[in-house]
Amino acid sequence: MNRQIVAGKMGRFVEKMNDLLLLRPDEEQILDHASIFLGKLVEEDDWLPESCTIPHPEHYQQYLLYRDPEERFSVVSFVWGPGQKTPVHDHTVWGLIGMLRGGEIEQRFDIMDGKVIPGDTHELKPGDVGRVSPTIGDVHQVANASQDEVSISVHIYGADIGRVSRHVYTEKGETKTFISGYTNTKLPDLY
Ligand code: FE
Repeated sequence: MNRQIVAGKMGRFVEKMNDLLLLRPDEEQILDHASIFLGKLVEEDDWLPESCTIPHPEHYQQYLLYRDPEERFSVVSFVWGPGQKTPVHDHTVWGLIGMLRGGEIEQRFDIMDGKVIPGDTHELKPGDVGRVSPTIGDVHQVANASQDEVSISVHIYGADIGRVSRHVYTEKGETKTFISGYTNTKLPDLY
């Protein structure tokens, strides 16, 4: 990956995350504080580089925006084409979803005795922030709320999420391991 310029709104977000993590917070403190920082970041939709907003006709895209050099966190833009959705999946680390553009429907699931039990569904609107983690509930399915518009959300995770081995839960009740990777191989400059 290339060296990147990280300034402007994203630069301030990364700085705030660095300051927070230096205090060695527990997971609850990370989620509480980082969700405020992320809420601020997605409040204004004028900073995400064009190259990280491009949908794919068949499946959603995940553009790595920033990776902490110590891999304590990573920031990713998820771009949803009309009607696209994830499989039911987990993360294995804490994560926050900040809605930037459009809307997403999130359905939560519980895994009990290997069975996938549907939980609550809610919609994220621009400026909203959702949370996941193995402690508070880590399994969900996310879909673009729109059948004809692109939606974009900005996620932060407590690891280099594209390299984390995690799970999808199929409709047949199977659990499969996956590593998501990233759509982009070049990090964007962020102003
Ligand atoms: Fe997810």
